[in-house]
Amino acid sequence: MLHLKKNEILSNKSVRATENRLSVLGAFLHYQKPINLKTIRDYVEGIDRVTLFRILSLFESKKIIHKIVLENGLIYFAICNEKCSSDFGCTHTHVHFLCNVCEDVSCLEVDAFPTVNHPGFSFSSLSINASGTCVNCSE
Ligand SMILES: [Zn+2]
Ligand SMILES: [Zn+2]
Ligand SMILES: [Zn+2]
Repeated sequence: MLHLKKNEILSNKSVRATENRLSVLGAFLHYQKPINLKTIRDYVEGIDRVTLFRILSLFESKKIIHKIVLENGLIYFAICNEKCSSDFGCTHTHVHFLCNVCEDVSCLEVDAFPTVNHPGFSFSSLSINASGTCVNCSE
């Protein structure tokens, strides 16, 4: 079932399925939240560094995943939605939230994601990083 879904995600973004690509994608489906390189490496075990980097940058360019750079410089990756594409870019309008207590990172849809413009400039992306206390730590 999960295997089927992984193949479908790759073919939707015109990426040929290989064993390594499927297992890297598996890490994202397993955790269901933004994850860092270490988490991915621990999950996929046995894929060398170079291959892993190549897969992540392929996934990023095909908009299967997006990169999150936090203010503290830490880098996370999170799965994109089906509508993100290499032709039109990312369609999600969410903020990246870092919990100060458990250090979990989340992609959060918000009510009013701003649109920005400036004469003569064309914006292709807008990143918003936020931090605070997540729902699990608020209780
Ligand atoms: Zn995206
Ligand atoms: Zn938390
Ligand atoms: Zn995100």
